[in-house]
Amino acid sequence: MSTPLDPLRAETVFHDAKPAYSLQEARVESNRCLYCYDAPCIKACPTEINIPEFIRKIGTGNIEGAARTIFESNVLGMSCARVCPVEVLCVGDCVHNEQDVPPIQIGRLQRFATDAAFDSSWQFFEAGPETGKSVGLIGAGPASLAAAHRLRRFGHKVTIYERAAVVGGLNTTGVAPYKLRADDSLAEVDWVLKIGGIEIVTSVEIPKTHTWAQLEAKHDALFLGFGLGPDSWLDVPGKSLPHVSGAVDFIAQMKAKPLDLSRVTHAAVIGGGNTAVDAVRELLGLGIDSVTMVYRGTEGGMSGYEHEWAHAKEESARVSWQTQPLEYTTDSVRCTRLDANKRPIAGSEFSIPAQLVLLAVGQAKLGDLVRELEGVVVEGGKVVAEADGSTGRVGVWAGGDCRNGGKEVVNAVAEGRDAAISIDAFLVKGGRRG
Ligand SMILES: Cc1cc2nc3c(=O)[nH]c(=O)nc-3n(C[C@H](O)[C@H](O)[C@H](O)COP(=O)(O)OP(=O)(O)OC[C@H]3O[C@@H](n4cnc5c(N)ncnc54)[C@H](O)[C@@H]3O)c2cc1C
Ligand code: SF4
Repeated sequence: MSTPLDPLRAETVFHDAKPAYSLQEARVESNRCLYCYDAPCIKACPTEINIPEFIRKIGTGNIEGAARTIFESNVLGMSCARVCPVEVLCVGDCVHNEQDVPPIQIGRLQRFATDAAFDSSWQFFEAGPETGKSVGLIGAGPASLAAAHRLRRFGHKVTIYERAAVVGGLNTTGVAPYKLRADDSLAEVDWVLKIGGIEIVTSVEIPKTHTWAQLEAKHDALFLGFGLGPDSWLDVPGKSLPHVSGAVDFIAQMKAKPLDLSRVTHAAVIGGGNTAVDAVRELLGLGIDSVTMVYRGTEGGMSGYEHEWAHAKEESARVSWQTQPLEYTTDSVRCTRLDANKRPIAGSEFSIPAQLVLLAVGQAKLGDLVRELEGVVVEGGKVVAEADGSTGRVGVWAGGDCRNGGKEVVNAVAEGRDAAISIDAFLVKGGRRG
């Protein structure tokens, strides 16, 4: 299924931020685990991996068993091991934190076990006996992949419809390459597909190429996993200049093809969330001398993770707090300072040199795509669903960013997996729209 990737794509200059453990390092780290009863790390993981169990298995040399435990809960355990913000999830809740002892490096141990599974081609799952039921999934990102894999284990026929030519969603096109490169994401998709019977149709756009009526006629249930839309823009003069781009769009290009940034010595990233911080670190890693984050709030008010911002500062990121762009020119961003109420301060205008400007001020929500699906409720652009992913229309489920508004890969995996379980219960009962 892998689409060939350009071997010269810009992301290849990046190296792993958290390199792999050796067997010896993994054994030592796993032996520090207290194997807590009622372990808080399990509750902090959206996919509720049995963390003490897989760590104990690593400690006793049963690496295959450790990988099985991880994948049983989270079939995208390889990418999650690399991309999860563990500092605010499992590792953040490790009881060692309360005892002034370094927390167990759960993500790195998970990576050790899942990498071993990939390297050794261990296969843990097979498709269930064919049920004759069919499910259509929109989008080939983490949410749909997790749902599709679970649906195949139940024996249902699965077809994924993907707008892009490349599969894997933002794991392939968006995640910072010092965590996960596009080739690793595609390898993971191939690994998921090894269960057999998952058809992926790429370069199709729902509902343009296939209407909802056609999809509902073809499938017994649908899963909406279409994620978020394009970068949002600020209405600032100069926004159409060629060196002004959306951050997610720029990152996708960096992960897909070579980039010539030889004329860029200064860059500015507008925003203060995780995408802004990633973009700053990526531009620095691509060799740009000076990268300034321009954020309208204060350091304490930024939505980007503290640990990621700390890394950016170590890498010499610059920042202008309480600042708003007024105009983009060919080689600068003209800005104004803001007061505590985010109002411009008269006479405070100044310029930040920038031959490249990236906007990281959010992404559009795609809820409008389902407006013809009567009964599916959209609020604030997000598809509204119950805890099991079911929407207001019988036979339609949703999960991942299109439902939660943009969280993490592991949330998308959990929502996709749980929706599949709910879809199976519906189909087993003979479910079909009325
Ligand atoms: C720049 C960036 C960096 C990130 N970094 C991290 C990170 O380090 N760690 C982390 O855990 N999370 C990270 N995230 C968030 C994470 O990538 C998402 O939460 C996750 O990918 C959501 O999965 P999903 O399947 O819901 O959506 P997506 O991954 O967005 O996949 C949705 C898929 O649907 C397709 N699609 C959209 N519209 C249609 C249509 N009309 N028809 C057919 N297909 C369609 C899209 O092309 C896409 O492939 C990051 C996000 C961004 C933007
Ligand atoms: S999937 Fe993510 S949050 Fe869950 S245990 Fe693994 S690294 Fe931690």
